[in-house]
Amino acid sequence: MIDLKDFEYDELTEYIISIGEKKFRAGQIFLWLHKGVESYDEMTDLSKAIRDELKEKTYVSTLKIREKYVSKLDGTVKYLFELPDGNCIESVVMRYHHGLTICISSQVGCRMGCRFCASTIGGLIRSLTAGEILNQVIFAEKDMGERISNIVLMGIGEPLDNMDNVITFLHNVNHERGLNIGYRHITLSTCGVVPQIYHLADEKLPITLTISLHAPNDEIRDAIMPVNHKYKTAELLKACKYYVETTGRRISFEYSLIHGVNDSLENAAELAKIVKPLRGHVNLIPVNKVEEREFTKGSKEEIRAFCAHLTELGINATVRRELGADISASCGQLRKKVLK
Ligand code: SAH
Repeated sequence: MIDLKDFEYDELTEYIISIGEKKFRAGQIFLWLHKGVESYDEMTDLSKAIRDELKEKTYVSTLKIREKYVSKLDGTVKYLFELPDGNCIESVVMRYHHGLTICISSQVGCRMGCRFCASTIGGLIRSLTAGEILNQVIFAEKDMGERISNIVLMGIGEPLDNMDNVITFLHNVNHERGLNIGYRHITLSTCGVVPQIYHLADEKLPITLTISLHAPNDEIRDAIMPVNHKYKTAELLKACKYYVETTGRRISFEYSLIHGVNDSLENAAELAKIVKPLRGHVNLIPVNKVEEREFTKGSKEEIRAFCAHLTELGINATVRRELGADISASCGQLRKKVLK
């Protein structure tokens, strides 16, 4: 069975023509799908004959809310969604002054193996389809009853390890007949799959790219991020430069501060040196405690000093505010708990 949300707009149009329907029907269907209908019978401007025809070979995919938590501290909402095959993924909706931002998953599990990350502990089960990535936005928006205006691909999975489906998703979510979310309101985060950064740059979508750097040199990066065995820090930074030059967009860097591993003032100085030529913003994230992992964060003073040192060295750096602290909003943690 075909999920029509796996098609891009033009592919949907071709499909609709191929089953002998008029072209404009594709526009109607695309609109309905993005409104979060759960069956063809909700598409009330289509005749019963067309709906029956569609039902033969295609279906309207949905996501079931398996669990939902609302933070009493800041209104952050965490969803555990169940996919049609029973697998679970997490999405988080955060409230900022400029509107709602959703953090979505791109895979069930992850094969990147970052040592501090909860999402990779059980390995990769499978990649999400384009429709499944999109459904997180559609069904969270439907449940919230409010427009979601920003998307970050920073949930479970490595988006650049699921490139084709992520690109289809980006095209669809940006489409004016879809959710119409501007590329400038979309951020994609990667641990550094270098060839795919070039590929993404060549797609020339003006999204924001953020790099999970987490280390100022190969020695530390090798120790905490296995992807660095394949693509060294220098190669990664070279790909970042290409991205900036090709798309005209800035890049930002994520840096999880892990006590005694990457959070000394010397580390800050080394970090400043390598990110300076790219003029990227550095987001510092005090590492979140993951049950199975031994990593801890430093004191508030140490974190502040690290940030201040970067600033002194001319780097635009901020410590990320923690949202949803009472509902284990950091990704991977909820899915893991339910798996147990
Ligand atoms: N795979 C992509 C996107 C998902 S991760 C990537 O690696 O960028 C979202 C961000 O959270 C990444 O920067 C990741 O390195 C970081 N992260 C994962 N586990 C963390 C933890 N325990 N504490 C702090 N940040 C963590």
